[in-house]
Amino acid sequence: MAEIQEKAAEEKVMAGNFIHDEIVADTKEGHCDAVHTRFPPEPNGYLHIGHAKSICLNFGTAKKFGGICNLRFDDTNPSKEEEEFMDSIKADVRWLGFDWQDNLFFASDYFEKMYEYAVELIKAGKAYVCELSAEQMREYRGSIGVPAVSPYRDRPIEESLRIFEEMRAGKYADGQYTLRAKIDLASPNFVMRDPVIYRIQHSHHNRTGDDWCIYPMYDFAHPISDSLEGISHSICTMEFEIHRPLYEWVIENTSCPTKSRQIEFARLNLTHTVMSKRFLRRLVEEGHVNGWDDPRMPTISGLRRRGYTPEAIRDFCDRIGVAKAESTVDTALLEHCLREDLNARADRVMCVLDPLKVVITNFPEGEHEMVPIENNPEKPERGKRLLPFGRELYIERSDFMEEPPKKFFRLSPGAEVRLKSAYIIKCEEVVKDEAGNIIELRCTYDPETRSGGTSTKKVKATIHWVNARECRNAEVRLYDYLFTADDPYDVPEGSDFIDNLNPDSVQVMADARIEALYPLPGERFQFLRHGYFVVDPDTENDRFVFNRIVSLKGGFKK
Ligand code: ATP
Ligand code: MG
Repeated sequence: MAEIQEKAAEEKVMAGNFIHDEIVADTKEGHCDAVHTRFPPEPNGYLHIGHAKSICLNFGTAKKFGGICNLRFDDTNPSKEEEEFMDSIKADVRWLGFDWQDNLFFASDYFEKMYEYAVELIKAGKAYVCELSAEQMREYRGSIGVPAVSPYRDRPIEESLRIFEEMRAGKYADGQYTLRAKIDLASPNFVMRDPVIYRIQHSHHNRTGDDWCIYPMYDFAHPISDSLEGISHSICTMEFEIHRPLYEWVIENTSCPTKSRQIEFARLNLTHTVMSKRFLRRLVEEGHVNGWDDPRMPTISGLRRRGYTPEAIRDFCDRIGVAKAESTVDTALLEHCLREDLNARADRVMCVLDPLKVVITNFPEGEHEMVPIENNPEKPERGKRLLPFGRELYIERSDFMEEPPKKFFRLSPGAEVRLKSAYIIKCEEVVKDEAGNIIELRCTYDPETRSGGTSTKKVKATIHWVNARECRNAEVRLYDYLFTADDPYDVPEGSDFIDNLNPDSVQVMADARIEALYPLPGERFQFLRHGYFVVDPDTENDRFVFNRIVSLKGGFKK
C-alpha cells in the first residue's frame, strides 16, 4: 500500500483525498478498469450546499480519472412533486459547472430488473415473504446479543414466490406483506437482520404511473442501480457505512453485472444553517422563507439567487476536503471563498442605502460636471466611468451626525469630508422638518479639491454619494444568517430549530439610490463600503432590486 501511495504521489494527478487513494489502489490491484461514479439525488426537494460537496466529489473524481459520472434520479419512492424537483436538480448541477452528457438515469427504470433479482433471491432461498406489521417487526428485532425473531422465515419457496407475484398484481393492501432478505437474524449489525427489501404501496409513480404497487427499499434498489450502470465506486455519506454489508450482499447474491464498491465520506455541515431537505422543506412550507430559492436558504438555488458564483462554491468544496470524520464548517469559510472570487470579478459602484439629500449651494443650478471613477481598482483594465457631480446629491444618512463623538470623521456641522472621486465638501447648514427630522444638508464644495488634482488639502474621511437627478431608485435587501445560533439544532428541550431563526435575517432598504446603471438580473457589483450585491430577478423596468451577497468584512454581526 505504501508503495502505491508513493507512486500516486509521483503521478501527481492521482494525489488527492482518501477516496482517490482507494481508487488508485483498486486500479493497481486490478479491481477497476475504468472509474465510473454517480450522483444519485432523491427528487424530493431542492439541492443544498451539502449536495454540492457530493456533486463536486463525484463529478470531480470521474473527471480526474478520465471516467464518467452519471446523474441518477433515485426515484424508487413514489412522490408527487418530482417533476419540479428534477428540473431544479438538473439546473443546479449544470449551474455548478458539471455535465452528465448522455448519462441521465432513473432508478425507476430498473423496477423490472429489481423485481427479477428479488425473484432470484426467493428461488435461491435467500428471501421470503413476511407478514409482520411494521410495529411487530420492531418488536421482534431483538437487541444487542439477542437475535431477532422472524416467524415467516421458513415459508416454502413456492409460497413466497406466489405471494410475491400476487403482491405485484395488487391483491394485497399496503403493509399486509413485505419481502425480506434471509441473511442473519443474529447479526450484530441490525441492518443485516433479514431486512425488508420490498413493500406494498399503492401509490402513483411520476414515471411508472400505476404499473407498480410494490416498491423496492433503498438498500435493495441502490446497489442494483449502481451495478446495472456499471458504477465502479459508489461514493456516499457516512450514515450508509453500516449499510455497506447489505449493499455488498445484494450484489453478491444476485446476478448483478458489476461489483460496485461503496466508499463513505463525512457529510458537510455548516454553521448558522440547517441542511436536511426535511428541515428545509419545513422552512418553505411554514413560510419562514420565501420559497426554496430564498436568498437566505443554503439551497443551490438560494445561493444562486443570493449571488454566489459556481466558482466560489467549487473552490469551497475543494478547500474543505474529504474525510471520514464528521465536522461542521464555519460559514465564514464559504463567505471567504466568495469574497475572493467577487473581488476580482465585480465592478465597483456607488449606492446610497439610506439617502440624505445634500445641496451644494455654491454649485450652479441645472449644471453638472463629469468626474472619472475607476471600475475596479484591482483590475485597471476594467477602465473608468464618468459620474455626474452636481448641485443636488444624496449621501448615506449614517455618514452625517449633528453631534458627532470625538472619533467621527465624516460629515457634521462645520466639518469637511471628501466625496469619492469628486470634491471636499463642508456642511454649512442642517435643514429639519417640523418634527425635527433632518431632511437636507446645505453644503459648499471646494472647487480646488477635485480628486486627482493638485490640491494638498486633506480630510480624514471619504464617503460615497450619488447625483440626486441622475440616479435610480432601488430596493436593497440586506441578508444576515438565517439562524442566530452556530448550531441551530442546539435548543432546550421542548423547542426546536425554528426557535433559533434569526428574526432580523433580512432588512429591506426600500428607498436606496444607485448610480444610473442598466444591468440585468444576475449581474454582480461591489457597492463601495457596503459589500457585494447582485441584481435580483424581482427587478422590474423602473425598479431595481438588489440582494447583498456578502458584506466586505467577515464575521457574524450580532
Ligand atoms: P438530506 O439529508 O438533505 O435530505 P439526502 O442524503 O437524503 O439529503 P439525497 O438526495 O439522497 O439527499 O442525496 C444525494 C446525494 O447527496 C447522496 O449521495 C448523499 O449522500 C449526498 N449528500 C446529501 N447531503 C449531503 C451533505 N450534507 N454533504 C455531503 N453529501 C451529501
Ligand atoms: Mg435521502
